[in-house]
Amino acid sequence: MDKKNEMNPELIRLAKKCGLLNPKIENLLDFCKIVEDIAKVNQSFALSIVANAMTCFALDLSDIQPENELSSFSLTEPTSGSDIKNLKTFYDFKIVKGVKTLVTNAEMAKNFMVLAKTEKGEVLCLCKRKNNCISVRKLDTTAFRGSGIGVVKFNVEPEIVLKDGIRLSLNVLNYSRPAFSAIALGISEKCFEIALNYAKRRKSFNKKLIEHQAVKFALAECFAEIESLKSMVYKASKKPNSVTSAVCKLLAAKTIKKVVDCTMQVLGGHSLVRGGYVERAYRDCKAFDIGEGTNEVMKIIISKTF
Ligand SMILES: Cc1cc2nc3c(=O)[nH]c(=O)nc-3n(C[C@H](O)[C@H](O)[C@H](O)COP(=O)(O)OP(=O)(O)OC[C@H]3O[C@@H](n4cnc5c(N)ncnc54)[C@H](O)[C@@H]3O)c2cc1C
Repeated sequence: MDKKNEMNPELIRLAKKCGLLNPKIENLLDFCKIVEDIAKVNQSFALSIVANAMTCFALDLSDIQPENELSSFSLTEPTSGSDIKNLKTFYDFKIVKGVKTLVTNAEMAKNFMVLAKTEKGEVLCLCKRKNNCISVRKLDTTAFRGSGIGVVKFNVEPEIVLKDGIRLSLNVLNYSRPAFSAIALGISEKCFEIALNYAKRRKSFNKKLIEHQAVKFALAECFAEIESLKSMVYKASKKPNSVTSAVCKLLAAKTIKKVVDCTMQVLGGHSLVRGGYVERAYRDCKAFDIGEGTNEVMKIIISKTF
């Protein structure tokens, strides 16, 4: 998936069969634990599952049963991301018209939840991929290759229109941020496991790496930070709200970068060879500073309570 930057249809079929494409908000903690485990094996698939969940959460909050089909959630536009209100996509005369970018699952999604504005405010429109009314151009990303991230052009009549689109989208993000953070948790745990096993096997200066205090202490710090992230992901997914979810996402971004960096240092030059889990994590970890709202946006949310 990483090499070809392609989603795997077989995994999506299995996800459908297992009920992974239909998570409920009331089961957010269990969902996060599943995402954490998936991320230890396949980071991109974990992201696809989380991106899909965003549409499910929006429907769940509106008391509508989601379909068991892969979805994407489209907020970001070429000219606005963090500034979510500054959107150009329009819903008028029963048609959604506009361009969204960096949309996860764009490659294979059957449903697209799209934030659009109207004369009276913003709406979230559930659009089906049919009759060439939705066109997708896949992006050649560095991080999360194989999550089907792309630019999507809409000129389509939606199936469902949900009122108060911005409020609803921000509410969805309160639930999806702990799940996104669970990906960072899973990747951090896997990297730590790889680093520890390597440090127990590899020798330098007649000692195992783990016997050098510098290596042992670096791993101990990673262990403490991963434990702290785990508590925060579980806390935020039990009681999600704007602040706990923002704290969780900010902590996730910091933790994964530190753990990946430490793992690479322990592995030495081997960590830089393309194709391994850690090299992949190195490319993926930057996305946690940006996706689901940037670090700066998380700090704005947190500091609003001061
Ligand atoms: C892996 C990945 C998957 C994604 N999937 C999706 C998806 O499925 N759907 C979707 O809609 N989007 C998706 N995105 C896009 C993501 O949500 C946006 O990239 C993000 O919200 C930031 O928007 P932007 O990139 O336009 O940056 P901008 O908003 O243009 O920000 C640029 C920089 O300016 C800073 N900045 C902006 N405003 C302020 C401010 N007021 N104060 C301080 N700093 C500020 C930002 O923090 C950032 O550092 C994805 C992104 C990634 C990395």
